[in-house]
Amino acid sequence: MDMEVIAALTEILDAERVSVTDADRALHGRDQSPHAAHLPDAVIWPQTTAEVSAILKLANTRHIPIVGWGAGSSLEGNPIPVHGGIVVNFQRMNQILAIHAEDFQVVVQPGIFYKDMNKILGQFGLFFAPDPGANASIGGMIGNNAAGTRTVRYGATRDNTLALEVVLANGKVIRTGSRSVKQSAGYDLTHLIVGSEGTLGLVTEATLKLTPLPEHFSAVLATFSHTAKAAEAVFSIIGAGLGPAALELLDAAAVTYMNQDSTINLPVAPTLLMEFHGATAEALHTELALVRDVCADCGATRFEAGVGRDERDRLWHGRHQLGEILFRAHPKETYLITDVSVPISRYPDLATFTAGLMETMNINGALFGHAGDGNLHTVVFAPPDSPRQQADLQRFNDHVVQKAINLDGTCTGEHGVGIGKQKYMVQEHGEAAVDVMRQIKTMFDPHNILNPGKILG
Ligand SMILES: Cc1cc2nc3c(=O)[nH]c(=O)nc-3n(C[C@H](O)[C@H](O)[C@H](O)COP(=O)(O)OP(=O)(O)OC[C@H]3O[C@@H](n4cnc5c(N)ncnc54)[C@H](O)[C@@H]3O)c2cc1C
Repeated sequence: MDMEVIAALTEILDAERVSVTDADRALHGRDQSPHAAHLPDAVIWPQTTAEVSAILKLANTRHIPIVGWGAGSSLEGNPIPVHGGIVVNFQRMNQILAIHAEDFQVVVQPGIFYKDMNKILGQFGLFFAPDPGANASIGGMIGNNAAGTRTVRYGATRDNTLALEVVLANGKVIRTGSRSVKQSAGYDLTHLIVGSEGTLGLVTEATLKLTPLPEHFSAVLATFSHTAKAAEAVFSIIGAGLGPAALELLDAAAVTYMNQDSTINLPVAPTLLMEFHGATAEALHTELALVRDVCADCGATRFEAGVGRDERDRLWHGRHQLGEILFRAHPKETYLITDVSVPISRYPDLATFTAGLMETMNINGALFGHAGDGNLHTVVFAPPDSPRQQADLQRFNDHVVQKAINLDGTCTGEHGVGIGKQKYMVQEHGEAAVDVMRQIKTMFDPHNILNPGKILG
């Protein structure tokens, strides 16, 4: 990038918020995925929508790639600047602009981290429910349509986003949606932008739906003899109309990894880790009794409900740490993360197939997932110097995705397309639908400056 552009950026922002240092470029060259790093030419930290608009006008005129950056915690290479250009780090646009507690809504800038936001919202008895394990930014969660342990009850980021302020590639600022929870006025641009991975515009403000903190809650643990039996119990619990606030599947390997956290001491067996919320203690008690019956019918080998607050917090902390524990346990190996999702009735088939495939292909790793919404992950490892085992990881991913699509599911439930899932887009959506997506992209971003090389390649 020539010095003229750097000088123009410095004029829009100020020298302190424009960096071309190797350290800053390296920090913004990779996310948490195994995809190869690519360095941006510059990193900038805007503080206002007007600055973002001026930057996009400049980039659009000169055809410079622009990549939004929240916390860089993506798992599919989503914010990697594969064509260089400018990374726009939103961490200085991290304010809560309004809390409408009476409407269960908050208006925020995109750089706020959701855990920090939830700490403040807790004082109002509210929280933003989607919770990816990492401390992601709201802009990044909107970019990837992030979900998490509570999505089974409260939905993903898309379900909890009401309105946006978006800066388009040409620098124009648009507002989408409204604060009304019912909206039927024309094309739904809000939900088109959510999950677009920064390829259609940069989000500079978001109005989010909030959920009241539950009055009564309980964590529940159930263990099973086989992963397949645990997966059948998932379908039975949802099929019985029970309403878990979280329903996570862990295979025995995942439990063993979680136990590496010294505060966790779970029996090593395929496990369902659940949470139930109730408006009253009686309602919660009644629901827990039904869950116990369903688990017993599905052959649970152990069932523990009524887990107290400290133990419950420890368990969820351990579950959220699982990804990090897995990465730390294999420092010398490369990894691959699968992220498929299927209709709940197909979940037992998907989980049984995946567990069996890991065994027959002798793949090393763990299987777990936000089972209540049909989402299944594996994190699998192979030594970098074994081409055969590396190829096996790719074949494993292909088989799992193929199975999920055959079961009417998707190649990515929550991590997004990024780099790694592009090859499945036509298979999942068909050529004609992908062509419509290409036309939408061209209409929003004719010069392909917004996160080029993502979603559609
Ligand atoms: C240990 C671990 C566990 C995880 N668990 C989950 C999980 O359970 N569920 C889940 O969904 N994800 C999970 N993730 C993935 C990741 O945390 C989420 O995808 C998260 O939403 C990324 O947020 P971020 O702030 O890090 O965004 P980034 O990685 O910085 O960016 C994500 C995407 O959004 C774009 N973007 C960023 N800001 C903006 C903006 N203002 N406007 C437009 N586009 C923008 C970027 O260009 C990129 O395409 C996990 C990651 C880790 C490391």
